[in-house]
Amino acid sequence: MGPHSGYLARFGENPMDEGFEGLAVKNKENDLIVTNSMEASENCCVKVALHIRPLIDDERLQGCKECVTVTPGKPQIKIGPHSFTFDHVYGSGGAPSPTIFEDCISPLIHGLFQGYNATVLAYGQTGSGKTYTMGTGSGDGCQTGLIPQVMNALFNKIEILKDQTEFQMQVSYIEILNEEVCDLLDSLSMKMETINGHAAKVGRHPIQIREKSNGAITLAGLTEVAVHSLREMATCLDQGSLNRATGSTNMNNQSSRSHAIFTITLEQMRKIRSAFPGNDTPDEDMGEEYFCAKLHLVDLAGSERAKRTGSDGLRLKEGIHINKGLLALGNVISALGDEKKRKEGVHVPYRDSKLTRLLQDSLGGNSKTVMIACISPADINAEESLNTLKYANRARNIQNKPIVNR
Ligand code: ADP
Ligand code: MG
Repeated sequence: MGPHSGYLARFGENPMDEGFEGLAVKNKENDLIVTNSMEASENCCVKVALHIRPLIDDERLQGCKECVTVTPGKPQIKIGPHSFTFDHVYGSGGAPSPTIFEDCISPLIHGLFQGYNATVLAYGQTGSGKTYTMGTGSGDGCQTGLIPQVMNALFNKIEILKDQTEFQMQVSYIEILNEEVCDLLDSLSMKMETINGHAAKVGRHPIQIREKSNGAITLAGLTEVAVHSLREMATCLDQGSLNRATGSTNMNNQSSRSHAIFTITLEQMRKIRSAFPGNDTPDEDMGEEYFCAKLHLVDLAGSERAKRTGSDGLRLKEGIHINKGLLALGNVISALGDEKKRKEGVHVPYRDSKLTRLLQDSLGGNSKTVMIACISPADINAEESLNTLKYANRARNIQNKPIVNR
């Protein structure tokens, strides 16, 4: 099952709903032709980047020292006796952070315009810089984060291509808290005046995840906002981020216990010349190429173990749910990478959590995935940082075993 099937199915006229594995191209007879997607399949991998934030004031006040060393000129990090190599290492003597976008995210945007789904995941303990890196906060970090850069790049590219191609974009923004899916843009659908208003958590109701007969994942009743400008898209990000649930634990006052997923869907209808020899009359020679792809930008919940939050009752329950999603994500990524097991028909355990279920059509297959592992350099966080490095390292192993859908 290719990642595109759900979207084409939405148009209700696609004869290839089942087992669709490529890009849909309409020729001048209006037949849908599926182009070969093998190239993308073979390039499929999970890229893993490490982002080490600087020591923050709180850590300095506690007298913390940096406990990680980056090997000069290499994407390699040492913590105690352990050494890890990733695709990229940013911060603390590694590459400067602003290059994350160019190195890791630009290729996904390129793929998006070709019709390939993609997922960016920020992983790490609470306080490690996930929200800052993604730009899903409602404070300063959101200005410098990756999502605002993604938005800029999308609109710049559309501006260049708009004469040949018709574009439509929608955004949705959800959070998964206690294994429940909540719509962070719900208030937008209620009243436009509330967009720049209060962070009132009104009208929030759990969203049901549904699976279509062709395997496509849909979210019943989800708010999908059609956006026509950078400003409109940024407003959705800001409003949803304000609505995102936060709570207090011992580790961080604004600890995020939920997974937040900002999704951009890009639809394109492009006029093309068909390749019939001897026919060069422009009007007769035009077909239409339809591409649709989505980009999930995921700010995962804190990866710390429940016991370290010192919480009880409700908070402890939340901690357990968080671990469930992250555990399932690790297992899915690991299963995707095990080519031998896949050949033996072992299924990928997407159904083990809401998070993995939701990302099902954008993880694996022809999709591109980037995991950004975030860590604090402080010695006080060494144990959690090591856990993050191990988790990220497990994801990276997939790179050498691309999935080939033959
Ligand atoms: P998380 O989302 O993982 O809980 P945050 O993104 O909220 O972590 O970051 C925790 C704190 O560290 C915030 O005060 C944030 O401003 C700061 N911070 C995170 N990353 C960086 C960075 N790369 N440079 C400077 N400060 C950062
Ligand atoms: Mg956060």
